[in-house]
Amino acid sequence: MKVTEHLHKSKDRTLVSFEVLPPLKGGSMQSIFNTLDALMEFKPPFIDVTYHREEFLYKKRPSGYYEKASIRKRPGTVGICAAIMHRYGVDAVPHLICGGFTVEETENALIDLSFLGIDNVLALRGDARQFEDKFIPEDDGHKFALDLVKQISEMNTGKYLDQNIQNGQPSEFCIGIAGYPEKHFESPNIASDLHFTKEKVKAGADYIVTQMFFDNQKFFEFVDACRASGIHVPIVPGLKPLTKRYQLNSIPRKFFVNMPDDFVNAIVKAKDDEAVKEVGIEWCIAQSRELKAAGVPCLHYYTMGDTDTVKRIAASVS
Ligand code: FAD
Repeated sequence: MKVTEHLHKSKDRTLVSFEVLPPLKGGSMQSIFNTLDALMEFKPPFIDVTYHREEFLYKKRPSGYYEKASIRKRPGTVGICAAIMHRYGVDAVPHLICGGFTVEETENALIDLSFLGIDNVLALRGDARQFEDKFIPEDDGHKFALDLVKQISEMNTGKYLDQNIQNGQPSEFCIGIAGYPEKHFESPNIASDLHFTKEKVKAGADYIVTQMFFDNQKFFEFVDACRASGIHVPIVPGLKPLTKRYQLNSIPRKFFVNMPDDFVNAIVKAKDDEAVKEVGIEWCIAQSRELKAAGVPCLHYYTMGDTDTVKRIAASVS
C-alpha cells in the first residue's frame, strides 16, 4: 500500500514510522530484524531504509603511494526492503538518490523495485561524497531530486527512457521527498528552498518527510509556509533524539539544524552521559506529544541503531 494511503486511512490518528540504516558491509540482516522486532508493537505502516552512495578511500600501497578506491559501506537497501515486506507484511520505503546513478541505472533500479512489489520510494539527491566539496552527479545522472521525481512520474505513466517502448507498463510509485524546516544548507534562503520543494510536488511528489528538528516552532512555520505557497501534500515530521553530549555540535554540523536555548542549557547542565540521554529522550517525547496534539499525520523516527531509545519515545506517545 502507498504511504499516502496509510496517511489518508489513519484520518485523525497519528501514525508512527521508523527509518533504518543498512548494516555496514559484513554485517548481518539480523541487526535490522532485531531493531524492527522491538518496534513492531507500534504497528508502523511503513519503514524507510536509507541509501548510501559509494565513498572514496585512500589506501596506502606497498610502494608508499596512495590509491583512490571506491567503496559502498552500506549496500543492501533494496534487499532489506524486500526482506522487511516479507517478514513483517509492512510496507518498505527505499530511499533512492541521484548520486552514483545514471538515468538508465535509475530506471533499472525502479524496475527492480516495481517487480518486487515495492510501490513507495523517497526520492533524494544525496550529498557530496567525502573529499568532494559539492554534489557531483554522474555524467548522465540527475543533478537534483526534482529530475528524479520527474523520471519516476514519467514511469508512472508508462513512459520509459527508450522511446521505442510502446504501451510500457506504468509503475505505481508513491513518491516521497525531503523537506527542510530550517532550509537546505545550500539554499540561499527559505523562499528559494520552498520554491524547489513546490516544483518537486508539481512534478509528482506525493508527500514530504522533514529533516530532523529540535524546535517544533520551525516545523509549524514550515508547514504554514508550504500551505501558503500552495503545497498541500501531507508533511511528516522526522525526529531524532539527541543521546550523547558530542551531538550538541555534531548534529548541527552534519544536519544544519539549530537547537533551542532551553534544550542546549539542559544538556550542558546534565552531570553525566546518562543525564544527557535522559534530557534528549524527554525533549523528543515532549516534541512528539506536541506534534501529535497538533494533528501531524505521522511521527517518523530516525532509529540510527538506537532501538531502545526510540522504543521508549514511541511508547510514551502511543
Ligand atoms: P534537492 O531537492 O535536489 O535540493 C538540493 C538543493 O538544491 C537545495 O538547496 C534546493 O533548494 C536546491 N535545488 C533543488 N532543485 C533545484 C533546481 N532545479 N535548481 C537549482 N537549485 C535547486 N541522503 C542519502 O544519501 N541517503 C538517504 O537515504 C537520505 N535520506 C534522507 C531522508 C530525509 C528525510 C532527508 C531530509 C534527507 C535525506 N538524505 C539522504 C540527505 C539528502 O540527500 C541531502 O539533504 C541532500 O543534500 C539534498 O537532497 P534533496 O533531495 O533535498 O535535494
